[in-house]
Amino acid sequence: MTFTLPWSELPLNALNDAQKAQCETFYQILLAQNKTLNLTRITDPLEFLEKHIWDSLAGLWHLPPSLVIPTAAQVIDIGTGGGFPGVPMAITYPDYAITLLDSTQKKVLFLQSLIEQLSLSSVEAIASRAEEMGQNPQHRETYDLAVLRAVSSPASCLEYALPLLKIGGIALLYRGQWSEEEAALLEQIAPQLGGQAIATIPYETPLTHSIRHAVYLQKIHPTPPQFPRRVGVPQQRPLS
Ligand code: SAM
Repeated sequence: MTFTLPWSELPLNALNDAQKAQCETFYQILLAQNKTLNLTRITDPLEFLEKHIWDSLAGLWHLPPSLVIPTAAQVIDIGTGGGFPGVPMAITYPDYAITLLDSTQKKVLFLQSLIEQLSLSSVEAIASRAEEMGQNPQHRETYDLAVLRAVSSPASCLEYALPLLKIGGIALLYRGQWSEEEAALLEQIAPQLGGQAIATIPYETPLTHSIRHAVYLQKIHPTPPQFPRRVGVPQQRPLS
């Protein structure tokens, strides 16, 4: 198989050749659409491997031992944009049923076409707001794992994610820098939504050594019915 992405510079052994080929198709489709739709500023092939493929998977690789993602997990990627971290996860872990959620209709149309072209049979893309999904009985308390990368403040991310999780479900926030103040705020907000902070794992990306933090929470009680609040409120009046 001939590859165009520089896999020798970042081997990513978790992926077999067929999965690498799917990543290449994803890269090509993303770049083609990026001309008309603002999907990513990362277009260099090696940077795509590190900052999009490796980074999307790293949150799963740093999972604390006390947390277990079930097989055939129901996963939601909230604010997925061009498909991160949800699409690399779907390629690597095909037994997960993954919902890609974004409020921008055009991005979701792109994702629906991508899903078809990559034959990702257990993935769907939905155009909606996290605040609406969290109050929709078809989605509320139905997911084992909610992932969010570069979406909003930690407080808003928790209000988006926790209502969608089953009891025992995991929220995974992909953050760059992470401050003591953010950690303290998270510990304070999580119980209001039925969650508990479990661990924050710092790590570096393998090539450019950029700082990352994977923040893990678990849902331990039902989320009170008033959460999530109306569209826009979690951002305008964040919980404290
Ligand atoms: N997660 C992707 C990544 O890491 O490349 C995209 C990040 S992009 C900066 C943030 C995305 O979140 C946008 O596509 C935006 O439309 C979406 N978004 C923001 N707030 C949202 C909400 N409340 N519900 C659904 N999508 C939301």
